[in-house]
Amino acid sequence: MLQLYMPLNFLGVLYREIKQSLADIEKLFSLLDQNQDIADSADAKPLLITAQNGAEIRFAHVNFSYESNRQILFDVDFTIPAGTTTAVVGHSGSGKSTLSRLLFRFYDIQSGCISIAGQDLRGVTQSSVRAAIGIVPQDTVLFNDTIEYNIAYGKPGATKDEIIAVARAAYIHEFIETLPDGYNTMVGERGLKLSGGEKQRVAIARTLLKNPSILIFDEATSALDSRSEQMIQAQLKEIARSRTSLVIAHRLSTIVDAGQILVMDKGRLIERGTHQDLLAQQGAYAQMWERQQSSGNDVSEEDGSTPSAQS
Ligand code: ADP
Ligand code: MG
Repeated sequence: MLQLYMPLNFLGVLYREIKQSLADIEKLFSLLDQNQDIADSADAKPLLITAQNGAEIRFAHVNFSYESNRQILFDVDFTIPAGTTTAVVGHSGSGKSTLSRLLFRFYDIQSGCISIAGQDLRGVTQSSVRAAIGIVPQDTVLFNDTIEYNIAYGKPGATKDEIIAVARAAYIHEFIETLPDGYNTMVGERGLKLSGGEKQRVAIARTLLKNPSILIFDEATSALDSRSEQMIQAQLKEIARSRTSLVIAHRLSTIVDAGQILVMDKGRLIERGTHQDLLAQQGAYAQMWERQQSSGNDVSEEDGSTPSAQS
């Protein structure tokens, strides 16, 4: 019995791992417009994040371009203290999502340094960096698999109880229970299509299961009605508590209590401070705030561009 059980179990693990790596590739492509190979350095060590010190994020005088003839980030310099939330705002194309791609080290920078918990990203293994970061992206891509698999993806080998617990926390459990095959319902392009809000809840459940030290949230307000958005915002605040979080915000009302707000314009940080500081400065942020207030606080894109122009 034992002899039979072991190889079967081993095959199960192997199958999950293969599937996992395929899913990883798919996810990688969904985050990147263009895939570039960044190799670990020969003496790369795993990223070390301790409970005492937490995961401070530091961008030190970062200059970056995807292509040699066009610089995207200019001397970007900021610190997100461990366990706090920093929001980034700015027009579409100003370089906000690029910050999150660089944090994952999908690209290397031309000069400056990006570090997590004091460790230069170029000196640590990419797998350990990616394991430390959870992302709720602008547009969650679901795999053509069961809804359970799509949540469990956050933590290979998670138990059903763990999956249900995070689904409850993300307010998606009750919805799943109403589906024809419950947690075994096929979703994704070839299965049941979920709404933008439902997909984001799946991504939140996935992230809760992963339990990362660092959280990136690229807001996708365009996909949501304002009631769903408020619920999701409340959930995200809950998840962000005690984690180092980078929130890319389109609707300013969602980030008024962020510890720090960075304002980007054409690849440069032009203003920084708390919501109150920035209003008092009466600069670009204050103008954006006024514009959003006067349009009923319900604009999803501060520059009026179409959501599809965001990447
Ligand atoms: P935001 O998230 O603020 O809308 P992004 O960080 O996505 O802006 O993009 C910043 C700039 O970088 C844009 O001008 C965009 O066209 C350019 N860009 C984004 N991804 C790539 C890429 N893979 N290759 C070349 N240019 C890119
Ligand atoms: Mg973006």
